Amino acid sequence: RLATGHDIVARIGGDEFVLVLHENNESFDERHQRIKAAVAQPLMIQGMDFTVSCSIGVAYYPWHGLVASDLFKAADLAMYKAKENGRNAVETFSQELLDSARQKFLRAEELRKAIQNDEFVLHFQPQIELKTGLVSGVEALVRWNHPLEGMLPPSEFISLAEETGVIVELGEAVLRKACHKAKKWSTNGHPRIPVSVNMSPKQFQNAGVINHVKTALRESGLDPSLLEIEITESSVMRDIGSAAGVMKELTDMGVTFAIDDFGTDYSCLNMLKKLPFSRLKIDRSFITNTPDGEQDCAIVTAILNLARSFKLQVVAEGVETIEQARFLRLAGCEHGQGYFYSRPVCDRTIDALLDKQY
Ligand code: C2E
Ligand code: CA
Ligand code: CA
Repeated sequence: RLATGHDIVARIGGDEFVLVLHENNESFDERHQRIKAAVAQPLMIQGMDFTVSCSIGVAYYPWHGLVASDLFKAADLAMYKAKENGRNAVETFSQELLDSARQKFLRAEELRKAIQNDEFVLHFQPQIELKTGLVSGVEALVRWNHPLEGMLPPSEFISLAEETGVIVELGEAVLRKACHKAKKWSTNGHPRIPVSVNMSPKQFQNAGVINHVKTALRESGLDPSLLEIEITESSVMRDIGSAAGVMKELTDMGVTFAIDDFGTDYSCLNMLKKLPFSRLKIDRSFITNTPDGEQDCAIVTAILNLARSFKLQVVAEGVETIEQARFLRLAGCEHGQGYFYSRPVCDRTIDALLDKQY
């Protein structure tokens, strides 16, 4: 029994329900516990047991709305927040929730305009071949050159772009710019400096991704083997089969793939076996405590061995000290990237770094 007396339970569509509950002497906390318990009852469908969870958004009359439509909106917003908090959560509407939703909406609009106004710029960080100290590649890292707030790092906008789908267009712009830049290097005396471009899950899973890459390559005239795409495991785990299809089509053209942030997600060996990666990037969190931290050294060594058996080259991320660089080189890691060599630098500065020997 979810409701009593003239309370209402209504299905308003799909998997969304509305409960209108009158105040009684039971606390709200007790009532939502009872609702969750009722929903959590296993269901038997064609001999199989199913359990479902629910996210609950709460709005109170009259504080959060005087008419049904306002209460609906308030409860809906709270429900989205509950969903964000994970399974089975309950959230109550508040003014702060509304303010943050408005801000997010405005920021998302700003992001869309920023693409039209071409406000995104790339910074570049060199990757060093540890054996020789020469620059072996460059990672492109996007920045938002905001007209009022200045240069904003990806942590300020990538997840919102991902959430709102703007990432697809943003990613296309990044690809175009990165390929253009790499083409310039290849015609300015650096014939073989590949550019690495980050691709977020939504962008990689977008149906147009192959075309976006092809277009960027064609428009820039860049040799496809000078483009590396960095993706994380979360981009491919949902559907390894379709990821394999996309990767095959692009690797057939000569484009290569790296697994980014390796060791932080699933570290799924099946994925290494099934997908055509050519490099693996060890996440910075494991490099930070080398060479003093025994456990992290063991992890790094294990990843290097693993990579070797899968014929993958390794890039260590976040190399900040000479000791780390030395440890990695002696352990047989092929490439390093990090503040020890160079921070990400702007378009003009990177050109001067390409000839440097570290
Ligand atoms: P990431 O791909 O793991 O990139 C490396 C990040 O670590 C960069 O931060 C870089 O500036 C920083 N870093 C490099 N060396 C060091 C070091 O020695 N020490 C420390 N503490 N940090 C170091 P950034 O540029 O802020 O980028 C953050 C993340 O944003 C990237 O992580 C990547 O996931 C995402 N990102 C950047 N550009 C793009 C893009 O064009 N598209 C997408 N989808 N994501 C991007
Ligand atoms: Ca990366
Ligand atoms: Ca990374």
